[in-house]
Amino acid sequence: DQLQEAKTALNAPLFSDLPGDIDISFEFFPPKNEKMAQTLWDSVATLGPLGPRFVSVTYGAGGSTRERTHEQVVRIQNEAKIPAAAHLTCVNATKEEVDEVARHYWAEGIRHIVALRGDAPDGSQQYKPHPGGYANAADLIAGLKKVADFEISVAAYPEVHPDSPDAQADIDNLKAKFDAGADRAITQFFFDPECFFRFRDDVAAAGIDAEIVPGIMPVMSFAAVQRMSGMCGTEIPGWMKGLFDGLDERPAARQLVSATIAAELCRKLYAGGERNFHFYTLNRAELSYAICHMLGKRPVGGPA
Ligand code: FAD
Repeated sequence: DQLQEAKTALNAPLFSDLPGDIDISFEFFPPKNEKMAQTLWDSVATLGPLGPRFVSVTYGAGGSTRERTHEQVVRIQNEAKIPAAAHLTCVNATKEEVDEVARHYWAEGIRHIVALRGDAPDGSQQYKPHPGGYANAADLIAGLKKVADFEISVAAYPEVHPDSPDAQADIDNLKAKFDAGADRAITQFFFDPECFFRFRDDVAAAGIDAEIVPGIMPVMSFAAVQRMSGMCGTEIPGWMKGLFDGLDERPAARQLVSATIAAELCRKLYAGGERNFHFYTLNRAELSYAICHMLGKRPVGGPA
């Protein structure tokens, strides 16, 4: 009994108790050259055996990676035999152009789109829809559903999207995306589990009962995460900066710290009932692999 009490106090379950009864997915970005393509492919080969329910490939700012995204998505699905999802945005394209990209995907056997508005190409300006294009993600989803019956994932923001006037407007927008036909939302990365739990409550209170999958960002470079957080409104807790201080010249120690932070976040989310996790891999496998392993995931049909 004393052990039980101690475990509860430690916010059980402990890592050693986790049975791996979770669903995982991995996000990659399209490589820019041969060397990066090899890194991506090695990562797919490492993470594939963990049995992700899907992997996704991002769409570069302004649609700049249209062909490369397409190539990787189709290759992952056909060669690695992992269900692959293509990210697609509304930026710099007419509705007809976007529909054409979607039709190509459908013809190649891709059935899952991560539908996004995207950002103004230079990053700093206010987003303006293309004159002949989809106005936002909800509008894009409605269009995609006319092209074919895609499975659709969308973005959600536990810390509120920077363009949103307030938290309620952001949830209303999320609801509009589900009403337009989205199947699940994947969240922007965050580091405070309570922030996710509050968001989950607000989403439920808005009458949304679809899956909200926490997006997990294992920190590869703290400076890069600080930069990204500045743009997307994710708060970096003070304790986290403290944990990375002094590790600039110690990549191995840094990786151990990163894996610990992300695994601990996932463990708390698990304790709060979450069983789905989406990993922003940045095309590197080791951190995501280690975190999944800590959560009890083992290669499907492979050695325990
Ligand atoms: P939307 O859901 O359309 O909304 C964005 C904001 O605008 C919200 O705050 C919403 O409240 C507000 N808004 C929308 N419509 C209206 C309206 N009619 N009136 C008032 N307010 C409105 N970007 C890429 O370029 N490529 C990617 O591959 C990519 N992948 C991503 C994957 C995930 C999981 C996430 C979380 C983000 C990704 N992004 C990607 C970033 C995304 O494009 C940006 O966050 C973008 O600023 C918003 O896209 P959205 O689909 O959430 O937009």
